[in-house]
Amino acid sequence: GRDYSNVTATNDSNASDRLLGGLLATGFDEASCLSRYQSPLYRKPSPYKPSPYLLSKLRSYETLHKRCGPGTEPYKKALTQLDQEHTDNNGECKYVVWVSFSGLGNRILSLASVFLYALLTDRVLLVDRGKDMEDLFCEPFPDISWLLPLDFPLTSQFDGLNQDSPRCYGHMLKNQVVGNDKTLSHLYLHLVHDYGDHDKMFFCQGDQTFIGKVPWLVVKTDNYFVPSLWLIPGFDEELEKLFPQKETVFHHLGRYLFHPTNQVWGLVTRYYEAYLSNADEKIGIQVRIFDVGAGPFQHVMDQISSCTRKEKLLPDVDTVIERSRRVTTPKKHKAVLVTSLNSGYSENLKSMYWEYPTLTGEIIGVHQPSQEGYQQTEKKMHNGKALAEMYLLSMTDSLVTSAWSTFGYVAQGLGGLKPWILYKPENRTAPDPACGRAMSMEPCFHAPPFYDCKAKTGVDTGKLVPHVRHCEDMSWGLKLV
Ligand code: GDP
Repeated sequence: GRDYSNVTATNDSNASDRLLGGLLATGFDEASCLSRYQSPLYRKPSPYKPSPYLLSKLRSYETLHKRCGPGTEPYKKALTQLDQEHTDNNGECKYVVWVSFSGLGNRILSLASVFLYALLTDRVLLVDRGKDMEDLFCEPFPDISWLLPLDFPLTSQFDGLNQDSPRCYGHMLKNQVVGNDKTLSHLYLHLVHDYGDHDKMFFCQGDQTFIGKVPWLVVKTDNYFVPSLWLIPGFDEELEKLFPQKETVFHHLGRYLFHPTNQVWGLVTRYYEAYLSNADEKIGIQVRIFDVGAGPFQHVMDQISSCTRKEKLLPDVDTVIERSRRVTTPKKHKAVLVTSLNSGYSENLKSMYWEYPTLTGEIIGVHQPSQEGYQQTEKKMHNGKALAEMYLLSMTDSLVTSAWSTFGYVAQGLGGLKPWILYKPENRTAPDPACGRAMSMEPCFHAPPFYDCKAKTGVDTGKLVPHVRHCEDMSWGLKLV
């Protein structure tokens, strides 16, 4: 077993492990955020190493953040620009404000996307704390907070921002009020799944040139829009350098940015040590049902068992006769971690492995941390538990996820796991096959644009380059492979 108590006493040989291959900056106060340096103790080392170019980019971002972040002189100066309609564009720092919006999985993915956009455009990322961001995540950048100060002048407008807001880029394009002569002091980018064709022009090179001059960008999105950034000619070369292994974007950025606070980390580590650490193998099963009506549903139970059996993730049980077994070798112990809003699926598995022996002799323990019943986006501990569960899933050896769920995407990305995806049931029927292996561990962009900016026509953006493809679980989505 590993010694979890003495985590600060590391030697040089595992210092790189501890900093996730150099991904994490040194110099943080360890006690204020235990997860930052402890998480490698709970996971196998990632087989994916961040590129030296990504590391140097992150270090220069940290310098930029320190120079321009909240409270600094350039920040104060940039704020004064917000009082004016236009700007002379002589400020030294530019910003992108991420607005807290949607479920936790969506927020994690959209925030990672906006951070990558900030890296690509030399902007400072500032995070609207919403109801609970501060309770869930530690500060990822040294010295200066990533949280948008509470007195930021536009905060009161965030809730109302939509496609028709006067400073919405798509709205301005539509109404032809975008002129090239003067630079606006701020723009709102509406990248929410319901966005329109004009909003989608964000993904065109020419529009990026215009947007790039604006000192303040405010972004509302619930999507992982990274795949489409790779299709913008001004960004693709830089992205190739940052991520030579294309499917590692969220894996690295997620591990760099998202460190659970000590309270959430307590949920993760206590659960791990009580139920998972002693198992020979850990299997995660994330069940997310988008159907209406209270579960559990029989077709979903059938789907789970058909998938785990066919893919040899869990053994069959012997339901015919109870043979008397003489144990000669120590039995392998598999721990199954089920996450779901509903308790029925894990109860079902648990009874099955209690009532019957497995054909392989393996011992199967089934565990589900919470059963919250329904989605409660505004409750604090609810999202703390959701984050802890995404994290716990990321610590498993093999992962089964549900189609369409950003909750599962976060777990697979943080864990560096290519999951088996339970395809979406139609008409309350389990699909056949029940599941399939993902092409990559990247999240799926659920609402990508299908537009050829040069030709000004529609195009299938999933067929332009080999590394941006349609997703396994959503035919119109895009993902990096
Ligand atoms: P998505 O809707 O599956 O893409 O994932 P989101 O995380 O964006 O939104 C779903 C929300 O429902 C989560 O943030 C949780 O609040 C809640 N939720 C869904 N599934 C689970 C689960 O298995 N465990 C817990 N604790 N919460 C869940």
